[in-house]
Amino acid sequence: MKKIKIFDVREDEHQALENWMSAHQGEVEVELTSDSLGEAHFDTLDQIDGISTSQTTTINNNYLKILAEHGIYHVAQRSAGYDMFDLDVANQLGIKVSNVPSYSPQSIAEFAVMRILELVRHAYQIDQNVSQQCFDWSMNIQGRTVESLKIGVIGTGRIGSRVAKILNGFGSQVYGYDLKPNSELESILTYVDSVETLVQNCDVLTIHIPGSKDNHYFINQHVFQHAKEGLLFVNTARGSVVDTQALIEALDSGVVSAAALDTYENEGDYFRKDWSNKHIADQTLQGLLGRDNVLISPHVAFYTDEAVQNLVDIPLDDVLSYIHGKEVKNIVNP
Ligand code: NAD
Repeated sequence: MKKIKIFDVREDEHQALENWMSAHQGEVEVELTSDSLGEAHFDTLDQIDGISTSQTTTINNNYLKILAEHGIYHVAQRSAGYDMFDLDVANQLGIKVSNVPSYSPQSIAEFAVMRILELVRHAYQIDQNVSQQCFDWSMNIQGRTVESLKIGVIGTGRIGSRVAKILNGFGSQVYGYDLKPNSELESILTYVDSVETLVQNCDVLTIHIPGSKDNHYFINQHVFQHAKEGLLFVNTARGSVVDTQALIEALDSGVVSAAALDTYENEGDYFRKDWSNKHIADQTLQGLLGRDNVLISPHVAFYTDEAVQNLVDIPLDDVLSYIHGKEVKNIVNP
């Protein structure tokens, strides 16, 4: 029987891996390891037909060479990102890399809408008041209906289009801005042709563009200068698309009345780590955490049972296709 080896296995993947293995029982032998691909495993590669990785740091080019020497010409990375691979080297060696381009856009869309609702209805303030046994009806918990709001969606791809669809269901007036408008969405949103027009008109702004070089600080002082006073701002895309200092200035001036950030430009040192009772040296993050009109979450918008299962199923199905000589679906260097 063919054998595959799954590297970088994390605790939170175990159930999803069990599910995949029981669905493919008798079809393939699977070895799991929490180790990353490295020298300790080279001796075993002769008995392995396919592999999957989930590395977050650069994969040593020499390791790719070793894989090719052992006849392994495909690596299935269990993430959307594949910047840990040097694709030029992979191409020279004839190694194909696959990724998981989309694992559950609905999960992120629902999270973004949840945050919009929380901001609009001051959920954090209500919880904080009640935790202090304050049950009165202060003005700071009087909300609005989402139905009455104009909501701007920047990036109407897989995630943004779902956000628009859910909000359209609430009855909100949804406006979209995208480099490539999708005419199929025109029944649920109205496209505008500039970010300035979007923020001038909208009560809520939710962002769903990739964190590419071109999009670095896409949301900046200039954008906030054009925004309608009291804007509610949600970022579940990438920290790098927002100039955090500009956001802080907009929060200070009241241009932005509240924000929910699932990503933060310098999140790497903190997110996915338990920082309880430890000092946070990052003054900007510390400052954001101290504000009662900013909701921070540690890049978890995607984090659902469905997404975790897809993050295992899609790459492992690709490994199976590879070892059986079938077409691998999610190759990033065709
Ligand atoms: P997608 O490629 O399907 O859609 C992105 C859209 O943005 C495209 O329609 C594109 O044309 C548009 N776009 C790109 N740059 C633009 C610009 N400068 N101006 C206007 N429009 C622009 O991507 P997706 O699957 O919807 O994902 C969006 C982003 O969500 C991802 O790139 C990632 O950064 C983020 N994400 C976050 C999480 C999380 O857990 N928080 C998880 C997965 C993805």
